[in-house]
Amino acid sequence: MFLKRLDVVGFKSFADRISVEFVPGVTSVVGPNGSGKSNINDAIRWVLGEQSAKSLRGAKMEDIIFAGSDTRKAVNLAEVTLTLDNTNQYLPIDYNEVSVTRRVYRSGDSEYLLNNQTCRLKDIIELFMDSGLGKESFSIIGQGRIEEILSSKSEERRKIFEEAAGVLKYKTRKVKAENR
Ligand code: ATP
Ligand code: MG
Repeated sequence: MFLKRLDVVGFKSFADRISVEFVPGVTSVVGPNGSGKSNINDAIRWVLGEQSAKSLRGAKMEDIIFAGSDTRKAVNLAEVTLTLDNTNQYLPIDYNEVSVTRRVYRSGDSEYLLNNQTCRLKDIIELFMDSGLGKESFSIIGQGRIEEILSSKSEERRKIFEEAAGVLKYKTRKVKAENR
């Protein structure tokens, strides 16, 4: 499984549609301060279901919608699509290419799509759990996160290792089953 493409429109500083192609190897994003590098990382976490506006560096979810600039009007819709190659069937879904889309409107309405079909947030979280790519996963390490991992409580650290080892999904299901 690997990232193929990220399509972003109306999200944070990206008023126009941008498309980032991830070619095999290492992709680096470079640019001056404030040019939108971290916004790309935020877009990936957001499309994977991030619910905390604060962790996306905003006060409320609406803050992720392009708010306008000197030359551009604000928009009413933010949309991000992440496309992954799944030819090795690493994600437990019978498709060689998987796309996840999230939309949010200024009215507060929002939707998630999996391969262009409306789905629930829960479906996306389940699909990516244990893949290493969930929104809290070990594969996205933001600025300052390394210190946080090293200094966090042992139970928190354990969760990171459990996701890496692929057992978090089963633990989560067990807790849900017990609470039923
Ligand atoms: P640094 O090198 O300082 O880490 P960066 O390239 O990571 O910078 P980002 O934090 O990704 O920069 O981008 C910040 C920019 O995004 C700011 O200019 C901010 O005004 C803009 N921005 C954030 N949210 C919105 C929004 N809702 N509408 C318009 N612009 C936004
Ligand atoms: Mg940054």
